[in-house]
Amino acid sequence: MSNMKFKAEVKELLSMVINSIYSNREIFLRELIANAADAIDKRRFMALTQPELAVDGEIRLTADPTAHTLSISDNGIGMNQDDMVQNLGTIAHSGSKEFLKKLAQAKDNPNAAPELIGQFGVGFYSAFMAASKVVVLSKKAGETQAWKWESAGVDNFTITEAEKPDYGSTVTLYLKEDFYEYEEYWQISSLVRKYSDFIAYPIKMQHTVTTGEGDKKKEEIHDDTLNSMKAIWLRSESEVSEEEYKSFYQHLSSDYDEPLKRILFNAEGASEFRALLFIAKHLPFQYQFGVRTKKNLNLYIKRVFITDECPDLLPDYMTGFLSGVVDSSDLPLNISRETLQNNPQVKRIAKAITNRVLKELAAMLEKDREKYLQFYGEFSRLIKEGTYSDWENREKLQNLLLFQSMKSEPDKLISLKEYSDAMKPTQKAIYFITGDSREAVEHSPQLELLRKQDMDVLFLLDPVDEIVIGQIGKYADKEIVSVAKGDLKMDEPIQKEMEEKTEKAAKTNKNLLEFLKKELEANVKDVRFSARLTESTCCLVSDSGDPSANMQRLMKAMKQGMPEVKRILELNPDSPLIEAMSKKFEAAPEDPLLADYAKMLYDQALLCEGSELPDPAAFAQRTAKLMTERLQG
Ligand code: ADP
Repeated sequence: MSNMKFKAEVKELLSMVINSIYSNREIFLRELIANAADAIDKRRFMALTQPELAVDGEIRLTADPTAHTLSISDNGIGMNQDDMVQNLGTIAHSGSKEFLKKLAQAKDNPNAAPELIGQFGVGFYSAFMAASKVVVLSKKAGETQAWKWESAGVDNFTITEAEKPDYGSTVTLYLKEDFYEYEEYWQISSLVRKYSDFIAYPIKMQHTVTTGEGDKKKEEIHDDTLNSMKAIWLRSESEVSEEEYKSFYQHLSSDYDEPLKRILFNAEGASEFRALLFIAKHLPFQYQFGVRTKKNLNLYIKRVFITDECPDLLPDYMTGFLSGVVDSSDLPLNISRETLQNNPQVKRIAKAITNRVLKELAAMLEKDREKYLQFYGEFSRLIKEGTYSDWENREKLQNLLLFQSMKSEPDKLISLKEYSDAMKPTQKAIYFITGDSREAVEHSPQLELLRKQDMDVLFLLDPVDEIVIGQIGKYADKEIVSVAKGDLKMDEPIQKEMEEKTEKAAKTNKNLLEFLKKELEANVKDVRFSARLTESTCCLVSDSGDPSANMQRLMKAMKQGMPEVKRILELNPDSPLIEAMSKKFEAAPEDPLLADYAKMLYDQALLCEGSELPDPAAFAQRTAKLMTERLQG
């Protein structure tokens, strides 16, 4: 016999499971039945190459009201001693560390733990919710020795050699007193119908039925199958209740909530399959830590489970919101998991699924805006990732992007199509500005001309937006242009008027312009007049080919070494301040005030866009000096 300690993280998890008050105390049975069904799936898969292991899968529930036990038996793959140590002594899930971290944070919140457990599906360990002791008797398919694993779920478990005639596992729960209700046939059968009806193997249970009255009273033992066993994805939607779909989804995805959308479809033609897909409401928890799941779609071939890990079935960016089942009728049944990689047929299935999901999302955006906003609020980053990783579908993905805009209400989002449809015929380009928040960009001087022209500007407030938009480049044949960069690509008459105005200002203020360029040499690469401004005195813009200030900030934050690229200071040709400065310069070019003012223009431009000043103390000093002089007359 070996007596072993649980790994630290399992102990932590167990104490959480045992001590938390469950809002959903019945889930343990669903989890153990799911494990039993998985074990049968695995054995049936093995039997494809080792026919002697073939079996009609069956799960059997046995309750003993005298001993207060409930057993879940299966004739699946079973476990040997090593499997028991590995599977029932550690946490096998990826991202488990993050899970425990979150669990620790959630400790003070009694409602959070069950949700997290539901979300992650602590699976086997949920047995300890209901039981003070758990015994697993198991014999691995193809081996001769059976083993018994036993634990009270505190800090250790024992494994001993045991006797068991058939392959498979029996998990026996020694029920806690307040879980005695789960010895009752009616209670168990209703739970099975509720949560496990779709399980593809019969879940059987014996129970006693009393018939007749008085002398004729008879007790009969019935052996009933509690679930309908119909593969839920093969049934028509009218046959399946919402509750059943929900519980199937939860079983599949370990999500605690219901799905946002369900998609059931048949594909015919190049590849024949049936798929039941679910779009989630929440980003899976581990995604916040950059851990992605590979187990999204369960692949079946003619109803035989093949694998829950076939990364080729789904583009990476969809794994955050999609789960489901794909049942192929034309893949060969004896396919190995390895040959599924780079398999052209699998790729065809993936393509059809991707297309279908994108189509559903487009329809949702068009017909059920509220639902789509819910989706987008949670998964916009993944859609954006798609626009640069899924080249083939980039146009469809671009149409799923939403942004705030200058002319729309705060927090009302618009698509590129909506922007483009609302454009006046004279507007030549799609405009955007980047920044951290609506407040930060809304009053930007760079918007002045466009506001005056009654043109809309997209607000790109997510740091990745600029990269996404940058690689889209054009939408509906219209260039997408930053308002904070070089040329605004205005309509011919406006462009002409702008040019004339700036040329004239440049001519009149030639000397001042030269002076400012020199004074600000260290800060900007050029000083020029621009019709972009109608009210403010000045602003900073990037040269056409240069990275924007926002992009530079982003690169800096990502610690991507990049030399600082100087920008251009643009001046308003109608500004009275510039006019006055020019006059002063012509009259007294040596006046030290002018140098101070030059610096202050640059500082103003930085402040207006919400950038940090390189030397705030110097700015304050200059302002104080100016205020003093003014007061002293
Ligand atoms: P999960 O099922 O999500 O992997 P569990 O904690 O439920 O996590 O189970 C851990 C592992 O224990 C399973 O992956 C499986 O390898 C093994 N296991 C659990 N129950 C059984 C069973 N009835 N038969 C065979 N193996 C099992």
